Amino acid sequence: VRVWFSDVMPSERVRPDACPGVLALHEAADGLLARIRLPGGMVNPEQLRTLADCAEQFGDGFMHLTSRGNLQLRGLDRDDPLPAERLGQRLSAAGLLPSPAHERVRNFLASPLPGLADARRLVLDLDRAVCARPDLAALPGRFLLALDSGRGDVATEGADVCWRAVSADSGALLLDGDDTGLRVPLARAVDALVLAAATFAEARGQAWRVRESPTARHRIHDVLAAEFPRVPPVRFPRAGPVPVGPIPSPSGPLVGAAVPLGTLTAAQLRLLAGARSVAITPWRTCVVGGIEPQRLTAAGLVVDPAAPGLGVSACAGRPGCARSAADVRADARELLSRLPADTRVHLAGCERRCGRPGAEHVDVVAQDGGYGVDGAWVPAERLLRSLTHQDDSGQSDEGEG
Ligand code: SF4
Repeated sequence: VRVWFSDVMPSERVRPDACPGVLALHEAADGLLARIRLPGGMVNPEQLRTLADCAEQFGDGFMHLTSRGNLQLRGLDRDDPLPAERLGQRLSAAGLLPSPAHERVRNFLASPLPGLADARRLVLDLDRAVCARPDLAALPGRFLLALDSGRGDVATEGADVCWRAVSADSGALLLDGDDTGLRVPLARAVDALVLAAATFAEARGQAWRVRESPTARHRIHDVLAAEFPRVPPVRFPRAGPVPVGPIPSPSGPLVGAAVPLGTLTAAQLRLLAGARSVAITPWRTCVVGGIEPQRLTAAGLVVDPAAPGLGVSACAGRPGCARSAADVRADARELLSRLPADTRVHLAGCERRCGRPGAEHVDVVAQDGGYGVDGAWVPAERLLRSLTHQDDSGQSDEGEG
């Protein structure tokens, strides 16, 4: 049995919400860190060029994709007194900072591909509606809203509130992943999510997430039940992320391109700026229209669904993060060419496990000169063997199913 971690949530938070943004930078070991909101992963060519420029001028040359489809800029100069101001101006001019007050209210997932409905058409309306509400600026930086086209891809990413299409013109309202039974017309999906978010902001107390506050959860349900009809709740099937490789589409061929270890170079961002369409996904891939797969491959992106290492992800690790017990990205890079594509594994430098995928995965945490693999310690040099089940020590297969 693989371990599938959910957040360990206290009933009441005692720390203030310190999620970084563009205007509130985080002090990391490799410099200041900015997190850039990208609702639904939607990004246009001008924005991609701006992001490439910012990566080179302010950061370490990369844009780091997060597990919520946002972007991180690392390595900002901590001796520069105005990095946040100058970065904010650049991003604002490109439409990437629409409301300074809401810059940390930034977790909006949307299915990158149409299904029963097209979630991408709704997500920018949702962002505008949230940014128009001053009371929603107080939402915690971890609160997650999702619009699922009916494919079931983002609905299983642990959103606090999710609208999931069940037909071309209606959707289910999910709270913390569970169907409430409430059915919301497509035309009111944005209203319903805004109402749910506003109710949470009002009733949350110290909670950051819906799962932390039964009071807020019941309140959201009651408020929305006064507006929308209810049917018996459904247990929706889990769905995987969008595929890697060619994707047929009525609007022209698309390509799912994996971004190794979730880091896009400035050159890759500029290549993507020439695409017909680009959506950044929470699975550290891009859905790209209008660029030949061969050009994406030549630029270092992965479009082969059988490519080794497709399921490998890692947190920042050492030296970027002072908490890390190892250079986990170096060890992850060793796995990229060796692990089968279908082995999903996340390497973390400490127990916080930043950036871990929402889906089931092998949990690898640096500790004591080696790694805990699903809780069983293995020396670092045996990590690959333990993950490919070639380790005859018996240690690595504990908990395997
Ligand atoms: S999991 Fe730990 S080591 Fe990795 S980035 Fe998060 S805090 Fe740092």
